[in-house]
Amino acid sequence: MREHSAESGEILQVLRRLGIRADKKLGQNFLLDQTILQNIVAAAQPQPDDCILEIGPGLGGLSRCLARSGCKKVLAVELDRRFAPLLSALECEYASFEVIYQDILKADLEKITSGQSFKVVANLPYYITTPVLMRFLESGLAWERLVVMVQNEVAGRMVSPPGGRTYGALSVAVQYRADARIVLTAPPAAFIPPPAVDSAVVLCQKRPAALNVHNEALFFQIVRAAFSQRRKIIANSLRNMGLTPEQTAAWLKAAEIDGQRRAETLSLEDFARLENAFGKWR
Ligand code: SAM
Repeated sequence: MREHSAESGEILQVLRRLGIRADKKLGQNFLLDQTILQNIVAAAQPQPDDCILEIGPGLGGLSRCLARSGCKKVLAVELDRRFAPLLSALECEYASFEVIYQDILKADLEKITSGQSFKVVANLPYYITTPVLMRFLESGLAWERLVVMVQNEVAGRMVSPPGGRTYGALSVAVQYRADARIVLTAPPAAFIPPPAVDSAVVLCQKRPAALNVHNEALFFQIVRAAFSQRRKIIANSLRNMGLTPEQTAAWLKAAEIDGQRRAETLSLEDFARLENAFGKWR
Protein backbone atom coordinates (compact mmCIF):
# COMPACT_ATOMS: atom_id res chain seq x y z
CA MET A 1 0.00 0.00 0.00
CA ARG A 2 1.40 3.39 -0.99
CA GLU A 3 1.64 6.33 1.36
CA HIS A 4 -0.66 9.22 0.61
CA SER A 5 -0.02 12.57 2.29
CA ALA A 6 -2.11 14.09 5.09
CA GLU A 7 -3.43 16.51 2.46
CA SER A 8 -4.69 13.59 0.39
CA GLY A 9 -6.44 12.24 3.47
CA GLU A 10 -8.19 15.58 3.92
CA ILE A 11 -9.30 15.56 0.29
CA LEU A 12 -10.80 12.12 0.75
CA GLN A 13 -12.67 13.30 3.82
CA VAL A 14 -14.07 16.23 1.83
CA LEU A 15 -15.11 13.80 -0.87
CA ARG A 16 -17.04 11.74 1.63
CA ARG A 17 -18.62 14.85 3.14
CA LEU A 18 -19.76 15.99 -0.31
CA GLY A 19 -21.11 12.50 -0.95
CA ILE A 20 -19.15 12.18 -4.21
CA ARG A 21 -18.34 8.73 -5.56
CA ALA A 22 -15.82 8.36 -8.36
CA ASP A 23 -17.62 7.91 -11.68
CA LYS A 24 -15.87 5.11 -13.60
CA LYS A 25 -17.55 6.14 -16.85
CA LEU A 26 -15.76 9.50 -16.60
CA GLY A 27 -12.38 7.89 -15.96
CA GLN A 28 -12.23 9.20 -12.40
CA ASN A 29 -9.11 7.74 -10.81
CA PHE A 30 -7.70 10.39 -8.54
CA LEU A 31 -3.96 10.75 -8.23
CA LEU A 32 -3.06 11.49 -4.66
CA ASP A 33 0.55 10.29 -4.54
CA GLN A 34 2.47 13.48 -3.76
CA THR A 35 5.79 12.29 -5.21
CA ILE A 36 4.21 11.45 -8.56
CA LEU A 37 2.27 14.73 -8.56
CA GLN A 38 5.49 16.67 -7.95
CA ASN A 39 7.28 14.75 -10.69
CA ILE A 40 4.51 15.55 -13.18
CA VAL A 41 4.78 19.25 -12.35
CA ALA A 42 8.59 19.08 -12.64
CA ALA A 43 8.25 17.54 -16.12
CA ALA A 44 6.10 20.51 -17.15
CA GLN A 45 8.91 22.89 -16.06
CA PRO A 46 6.49 25.70 -15.17
CA GLN A 47 7.81 29.22 -15.85
CA PRO A 48 6.44 32.51 -14.46
CA ASP A 49 4.97 33.38 -17.88
CA ASP A 50 3.37 30.00 -18.52
CA CYS A 51 -0.29 29.28 -19.10
CA ILE A 52 -1.05 25.66 -18.22
CA LEU A 53 -4.16 23.87 -19.44
CA GLU A 54 -5.17 21.07 -17.11
CA ILE A 55 -7.64 18.48 -18.40
CA GLY A 56 -9.95 17.07 -15.73
CA PRO A 57 -8.90 18.66 -12.42
CA GLY A 58 -11.30 16.40 -10.47
CA LEU A 59 -10.56 16.81 -6.76
CA GLY A 60 -7.82 19.33 -7.55
CA GLY A 61 -4.78 17.35 -6.36
CA LEU A 62 -2.70 18.08 -9.46
CA SER A 63 -4.30 21.53 -9.85
CA ARG A 64 -3.06 22.57 -6.42
CA CYS A 65 0.50 21.54 -7.27
CA LEU A 66 0.30 23.41 -10.57
CA ALA A 67 -1.16 26.53 -8.92
CA ARG A 68 1.68 26.45 -6.39
CA SER A 69 4.32 26.18 -9.11
CA GLY A 70 4.35 29.92 -9.71
CA CYS A 71 3.15 29.89 -13.32
CA LYS A 72 0.99 32.74 -14.56
CA LYS A 73 -2.24 30.85 -15.19
CA VAL A 74 -3.75 27.40 -14.68
CA LEU A 75 -6.89 26.85 -16.77
CA ALA A 76 -8.64 23.64 -15.82
CA VAL A 77 -11.36 22.08 -18.02
CA GLU A 78 -13.68 19.72 -16.12
CA LEU A 79 -16.85 17.96 -17.26
CA ASP A 80 -18.21 16.96 -13.86
CA ARG A 81 -19.75 19.85 -11.91
CA ARG A 82 -19.91 17.84 -8.67
CA PHE A 83 -16.35 19.00 -8.02
CA ALA A 84 -17.39 22.68 -8.10
CA PRO A 85 -17.36 23.21 -4.29
CA LEU A 86 -13.78 21.89 -4.04
CA LEU A 87 -12.53 23.64 -7.15
CA SER A 88 -14.18 26.98 -6.25
CA ALA A 89 -12.29 26.88 -2.95
CA LEU A 90 -9.08 26.39 -4.92
CA GLU A 91 -9.98 29.33 -7.17
CA CYS A 92 -10.35 31.50 -4.05
CA GLU A 93 -7.02 30.27 -2.70
CA TYR A 94 -5.02 30.78 -5.91
CA ALA A 95 -5.76 33.79 -8.12
CA SER A 96 -4.00 32.07 -11.03
CA PHE A 97 -6.39 29.09 -10.99
CA GLU A 98 -9.59 29.03 -13.05
CA VAL A 99 -12.01 26.22 -13.86
CA ILE A 100 -14.09 25.95 -17.01
CA TYR A 101 -16.90 23.38 -16.95
CA GLN A 102 -16.86 21.94 -20.44
CA ASP A 103 -16.12 18.76 -22.37
CA ILE A 104 -12.45 18.86 -23.42
CA LEU A 105 -13.36 17.24 -26.75
CA LYS A 106 -15.81 20.03 -27.58
CA ALA A 107 -14.36 23.09 -25.86
CA ASP A 108 -13.11 25.97 -28.02
CA LEU A 109 -9.51 25.68 -26.81
CA GLU A 110 -8.25 28.49 -29.02
CA LYS A 111 -10.72 30.83 -27.32
CA ILE A 112 -10.08 29.46 -23.82
CA THR A 113 -6.33 29.98 -24.18
CA SER A 114 -6.82 33.35 -25.95
CA GLY A 115 -4.70 32.10 -28.84
CA GLN A 116 -1.59 32.25 -26.59
CA SER A 117 0.90 29.42 -26.32
CA PHE A 118 0.30 26.99 -23.46
CA LYS A 119 1.37 23.72 -21.87
CA VAL A 120 -0.98 20.81 -21.26
CA VAL A 121 -0.70 18.88 -18.01
CA ALA A 122 -3.16 16.14 -17.22
CA ASN A 123 -3.93 12.91 -15.53
CA LEU A 124 -6.17 12.02 -18.47
CA PRO A 125 -9.56 10.32 -18.25
CA TYR A 126 -8.55 7.04 -19.89
CA TYR A 127 -11.82 6.45 -21.78
CA ILE A 128 -10.95 9.35 -24.12
CA THR A 129 -7.13 9.24 -24.10
CA THR A 130 -6.65 8.86 -27.87
CA PRO A 131 -9.25 11.41 -29.06
CA VAL A 132 -7.92 13.98 -26.57
CA LEU A 133 -4.32 13.44 -27.66
CA MET A 134 -5.28 13.48 -31.36
CA ARG A 135 -7.12 16.75 -30.81
CA PHE A 136 -3.85 18.39 -29.78
CA LEU A 137 -1.59 16.51 -32.17
CA GLU A 138 -3.61 16.97 -35.35
CA SER A 139 -4.53 20.61 -34.76
CA GLY A 140 -2.61 23.82 -35.07
CA LEU A 141 -3.34 24.67 -31.41
CA ALA A 142 -0.47 26.60 -29.85
CA TRP A 143 0.59 24.05 -27.22
CA GLU A 144 4.31 23.77 -26.64
CA ARG A 145 4.50 20.79 -24.26
CA LEU A 146 2.19 17.94 -23.21
CA VAL A 147 2.73 16.13 -19.93
CA VAL A 148 0.09 13.43 -19.71
CA MET A 149 -0.66 10.44 -17.51
CA VAL A 150 -1.98 7.66 -19.74
CA GLN A 151 -2.32 3.88 -19.62
CA ASN A 152 1.13 2.29 -19.74
CA GLU A 153 0.18 0.51 -22.96
CA VAL A 154 -0.76 3.84 -24.60
CA ALA A 155 2.53 5.37 -23.44
CA GLY A 156 4.30 2.50 -25.23
CA ARG A 157 2.35 3.26 -28.41
CA MET A 158 3.17 6.97 -28.23
CA VAL A 159 6.93 6.36 -28.25
CA SER A 160 6.99 3.20 -30.39
CA PRO A 161 9.33 3.19 -33.42
CA PRO A 162 8.12 1.75 -36.77
CA GLY A 163 8.08 -2.00 -37.20
CA GLY A 164 6.48 -3.08 -33.97
CA ARG A 165 3.01 -4.25 -33.01
CA THR A 166 2.45 -1.10 -30.95
CA TYR A 167 3.34 1.33 -33.76
CA GLY A 168 0.20 2.99 -35.11
CA ALA A 169 -1.57 6.23 -35.99
CA LEU A 170 -0.98 7.60 -32.48
CA SER A 171 2.78 6.91 -32.70
CA VAL A 172 3.00 8.73 -36.04
CA ALA A 173 0.98 11.72 -34.79
CA VAL A 174 3.05 12.06 -31.59
CA GLN A 175 6.40 11.69 -33.32
CA TYR A 176 5.43 13.97 -36.21
CA ARG A 177 4.73 16.78 -33.78
CA ALA A 178 7.06 16.23 -30.86
CA ASP A 179 10.01 14.59 -29.17
CA ALA A 180 8.36 12.17 -26.77
CA ARG A 181 9.61 10.15 -23.84
CA ILE A 182 8.20 8.31 -20.84
CA VAL A 183 9.17 10.14 -17.65
CA LEU A 184 7.67 7.87 -15.01
CA THR A 185 5.43 4.88 -14.47
CA ALA A 186 2.72 4.60 -11.82
CA PRO A 187 1.11 1.47 -10.37
CA PRO A 188 -2.66 1.26 -9.81
CA ALA A 189 -2.09 1.86 -6.07
CA ALA A 190 -1.04 5.46 -6.80
CA PHE A 191 -4.71 6.27 -7.54
CA ILE A 192 -7.99 6.23 -5.67
CA PRO A 193 -9.86 4.20 -6.79
CA PRO A 194 -7.07 2.16 -8.45
CA PRO A 195 -7.48 1.72 -12.23
CA ALA A 196 -7.26 -1.77 -13.72
CA VAL A 197 -4.00 -0.99 -15.54
CA ASP A 198 -0.52 0.39 -14.94
CA SER A 199 -0.01 4.01 -15.96
CA ALA A 200 2.82 6.18 -17.25
CA VAL A 201 3.52 9.85 -17.77
CA VAL A 202 4.65 10.89 -21.25
CA LEU A 203 6.35 14.19 -21.98
CA CYS A 204 5.90 15.49 -25.54
CA GLN A 205 8.02 18.52 -26.39
CA LYS A 206 6.76 20.13 -29.58
CA ARG A 207 9.37 20.83 -32.23
CA PRO A 208 9.26 22.50 -35.63
CA ALA A 209 8.11 20.17 -38.39
CA ALA A 210 11.08 18.08 -39.51
CA LEU A 211 9.25 16.63 -42.51
CA ASN A 212 8.31 18.18 -45.80
CA VAL A 213 4.50 17.94 -45.48
CA HIS A 214 2.38 20.39 -47.51
CA ASN A 215 -1.08 19.56 -46.21
CA GLU A 216 -1.18 18.31 -42.62
CA ALA A 217 -4.88 17.41 -42.72
CA LEU A 218 -4.17 15.15 -45.72
CA PHE A 219 -1.09 13.68 -43.98
CA PHE A 220 -3.20 12.64 -40.95
CA GLN A 221 -5.99 11.34 -43.19
CA ILE A 222 -3.47 9.08 -44.98
CA VAL A 223 -2.05 7.85 -41.66
CA ARG A 224 -5.55 7.01 -40.41
CA ALA A 225 -6.46 5.21 -43.65
CA ALA A 226 -3.21 3.22 -43.63
CA PHE A 227 -3.79 1.95 -40.07
CA SER A 228 -7.56 1.49 -40.44
CA GLN A 229 -6.99 -2.16 -41.32
CA ARG A 230 -3.61 -3.03 -39.85
CA ARG A 231 -3.56 -6.56 -41.21
CA LYS A 232 -4.05 -5.48 -44.81
CA ILE A 233 -1.27 -4.47 -47.15
CA ILE A 234 -1.29 -0.72 -47.79
CA ALA A 235 -2.27 -1.15 -51.45
CA ASN A 236 -5.62 -2.25 -49.99
CA SER A 237 -5.96 -0.13 -46.85
CA LEU A 238 -5.14 3.12 -48.70
CA ARG A 239 -8.11 2.57 -50.97
CA ASN A 240 -10.08 3.88 -47.97
CA MET A 241 -9.08 7.30 -49.27
CA GLY A 242 -11.86 6.77 -51.84
CA LEU A 243 -9.56 5.53 -54.62
CA THR A 244 -9.74 2.82 -57.26
CA PRO A 245 -7.08 0.05 -57.18
CA GLU A 246 -5.44 1.64 -60.24
CA GLN A 247 -5.26 5.08 -58.65
CA THR A 248 -3.83 3.62 -55.43
CA ALA A 249 -1.18 1.68 -57.38
CA ALA A 250 -0.17 4.79 -59.36
CA TRP A 251 0.00 6.85 -56.16
CA LEU A 252 2.21 4.26 -54.40
CA LYS A 253 4.45 4.10 -57.47
CA ALA A 254 4.82 7.90 -57.51
CA ALA A 255 5.75 7.78 -53.80
CA GLU A 256 8.15 4.87 -54.49
CA ILE A 257 6.53 2.73 -51.83
CA ASP A 258 5.86 -0.99 -52.22
CA GLY A 259 2.12 -1.58 -51.90
CA GLN A 260 2.73 -5.03 -50.39
CA ARG A 261 4.03 -3.43 -47.19
CA ARG A 262 1.88 -3.11 -44.07
CA ALA A 263 1.29 0.26 -42.40
CA GLU A 264 3.33 -0.65 -39.32
CA THR A 265 6.52 -0.80 -41.45
CA LEU A 266 6.12 2.75 -42.81
CA SER A 267 8.34 5.44 -41.28
CA LEU A 268 7.26 9.06 -40.82
CA GLU A 269 9.27 9.89 -43.94
CA ASP A 270 7.31 7.25 -45.91
CA PHE A 271 4.02 8.86 -44.82
CA ALA A 272 5.37 12.28 -45.84
CA ARG A 273 6.27 10.86 -49.28
CA LEU A 274 2.75 9.50 -49.62
CA GLU A 275 1.34 12.94 -48.78
CA ASN A 276 3.66 14.61 -51.30
CA ALA A 277 2.68 12.17 -54.04
CA PHE A 278 -1.07 12.19 -53.39
CA GLY A 279 -3.02 12.97 -56.57
CA LYS A 280 -0.04 12.13 -58.81
CA TRP A 281 -2.00 9.49 -60.68
CA ARG A 282 -3.75 11.98 -62.91
N1 SAM B 1 -6.70 15.57 -12.16
C1 SAM B 1 -7.32 14.72 -11.18
C2 SAM B 1 -6.27 13.87 -10.52
O1 SAM B 1 -5.16 13.81 -11.06
O2 SAM B 1 -6.56 13.26 -9.49
C3 SAM B 1 -8.41 13.83 -11.78
C4 SAM B 1 -7.97 12.96 -12.93
S1 SAM B 1 -9.17 11.76 -13.41
C5 SAM B 1 -8.13 10.51 -14.07
C6 SAM B 1 -9.88 12.41 -14.90
C7 SAM B 1 -10.71 13.69 -14.73
O3 SAM B 1 -11.19 14.07 -16.03
C8 SAM B 1 -11.94 13.54 -13.86
O4 SAM B 1 -12.03 14.64 -12.99
C9 SAM B 1 -13.11 13.54 -14.85
O5 SAM B 1 -14.32 14.05 -14.31
C10 SAM B 1 -12.56 14.45 -15.93
N2 SAM B 1 -13.19 14.26 -17.24
C11 SAM B 1 -13.71 13.12 -17.76
N3 SAM B 1 -14.17 13.33 -19.01
C12 SAM B 1 -13.91 14.63 -19.30
C13 SAM B 1 -14.16 15.44 -20.44
N4 SAM B 1 -14.74 14.94 -21.53
N5 SAM B 1 -13.79 16.76 -20.39
C14 SAM B 1 -13.20 17.26 -19.28
N6 SAM B 1 -12.94 16.52 -18.17
C15 SAM B 1 -13.29 15.24 -18.18
